[in-house]
Amino acid sequence: MSNFNYVCPYCKKINRLPLKESYSKAKCGSCGNSLLDGKVIEANDSDFNYIIQNSTAPVIVDFWAPWCGPCRMMAPNFEQASRTLAPKVQFVKVNTEDNPQISGQFGIRSIPTMIVFKNGVEVDRISGALPTEQIIALASKHI
Ligand SMILES: [Zn+2]
Repeated sequence: MSNFNYVCPYCKKINRLPLKESYSKAKCGSCGNSLLDGKVIEANDSDFNYIIQNSTAPVIVDFWAPWCGPCRMMAPNFEQASRTLAPKVQFVKVNTEDNPQISGQFGIRSIPTMIVFKNGVEVDRISGALPTEQIIALASKHI
């Protein structure tokens, strides 16, 4: 595979990118924003399935809620991991309080929980807050 699909974190349009060791420049063909700054996609009940099915990069999803202390503590680590791995891994977060349908679909019982998807299929899952390096390790396993 020499190309892969990556969903723009800003406008959620699908971009086709060449598979490379490293990237110096990658802009969204639709909105023009950089795809390298590691912005985490905020997914919701209506676009979650679209994102995990259309991204052919591995997708790592952080299921969280605003009232959850460990979730808030882990948020900067998740963003740091996203900046490190973009655009090879798609980083997504889901607010479980606002999006009960998706949380129910994947049986989220404790947060934070991270799930890794490949081609729309769950391939890994871990619960509990993790440091940046362990988030990077979890996501990198599936590149
Ligand atoms: Zn865009």
